[in-house]
Amino acid sequence: MNDRARVLILGGTAEAVELANRAATDFDITYSLAGRTKNPARPENVSVRTGGFGGAKALADWMQKNGTDAVVDATHPFAAQIAVNAAAACGAAGLSRLKLLRPAWEEQPGDHWYAAPDIAGAAALLPSIGKRAFLSVGRLEIEAFAGVAGTELLIRSIDPPADADRLPGAIFIAGRGPFTVADETALLRAHKIDVLVSKNAGGGATYAKIAAARELGVKVIMIGRPPAPTGDLADNVDDTVAWLNRQAG
Ligand code: NAP
Repeated sequence: MNDRARVLILGGTAEAVELANRAATDFDITYSLAGRTKNPARPENVSVRTGGFGGAKALADWMQKNGTDAVVDATHPFAAQIAVNAAAACGAAGLSRLKLLRPAWEEQPGDHWYAAPDIAGAAALLPSIGKRAFLSVGRLEIEAFAGVAGTELLIRSIDPPADADRLPGAIFIAGRGPFTVADETALLRAHKIDVLVSKNAGGGATYAKIAAARELGVKVIMIGRPPAPTGDLADNVDDTVAWLNRQAG
């Protein structure tokens, strides 16, 4: 890479924002957002672009047009499609790419976890696990629970879900983290929740609900992650900055 290399950071996570803020001193950063959330967290003093590229080929074209030297895919562990696209586009263009993937949560003493392979698997499992569920999944994923019978649903999302009417009887609440363990404990208690459905996002920002479930003996259906892309991986921002410096060296 040249002196001030151009790095595309595929973002949408707290680590991506932190990485962009730190790397901006030494690299020309473009921070990319899918554009799904209103008012997402953004890094400072970097160029931010918003919206899908239009698939792997269009991403490769964008990188060529913008003189991209390296890519950090710092998207959410469950953002599987963009990870595949980034791997394909960088592979085709011969560009260095690293996936920044924070560690998954591990079951702790006092937890009662039930593993689900994906959202549909969690929805299928739900009626056999509890009667009053807190769904902590994305607003675009709640549709998978439309056919669930016999379990009441509490759903929290940052922006109002577009297809709320597909889940008649569900309770919708608005909320944007971070939430404290006290917040989450109060919510689970107030709604007499006996099962929490969560993706294994990892990281600290959304862990409070898992700790609250442990404290209250609430069961958790934990949705496993999609496979990580092949190639370079880091599980923290420090190692990612070191990787960028090695690419530049
Ligand atoms: P996804 O299924 O992997 O991606 C779907 C499409 O969205 C991609 O094919 C791409 O469109 C576009 N896209 C995704 N991330 C992008 C980015 N950073 N910049 C530009 N385009 C992007 O992703 P997702 O699960 O819907 O997540 C969307 C975004 O939300 C990601 O940036 C992720 O970091 C963030 N996020 C996701 C979750 C989650 O649970 N999935 C949670 C928190 C935050 P094109 O094919 O048109 O390029």
